[in-house]
Order: sequence, then structure tokens, then C-alpha cells
Amino acid sequence: MTDSNRPLEVACPQCRKKVEWREDNPYRPFCSERCRLIDLGAWADGSHRIAGEPAMDETEIDEMIMRAERAFQDEQ
Ligand SMILES: [Zn+2]
Repeated sequence: MTDSNRPLEVACPQCRKKVEWREDNPYRPFCSERCRLIDLGAWADGSHRIAGEPAMDETEIDEMIMRAERAFQDEQ
């Protein structure tokens, strides 16, 4: 069972380098302090805005469901 002894590898969110997820890595999930600081800096200056969908309100959700149901019926 050597596999279970291998530390989990994650990709550094900053540079995508493989990092071993270890208790003794204070920068995890980053590979280094440098990457961690870059990422924190990015958050601070707003370049890390949540991308993608704005929150949907109920009308939009209803509409989406109706559209999905219609698409489903068309397939029949
Ligand atoms: Zn990194």
C-alpha cells in the first residue's frame, strides 16, 4: 500500500506547479510564499473578482426550468 503513503499533490493556484499537500507546508495549497503573496495581492487589488454567473433570482430560475422542460419535451 505505498500509494496511501504518498502525499496528495495539488496544483499551485498561482503557477500551477505541482505541490505536495503536507502539514509542514505552511504555504499550501501554494508552492511557495511568493505564490501565496501574489495571490493575496491579486485579491486585494480586485483582479480576482468572482467570474461567471451573477446570482440568479427566482424568475430566472423558473424560466430556466421551463426552458429545460420544453427542450426535454422536444426530444420526445
Ligand atoms: Zn506556485
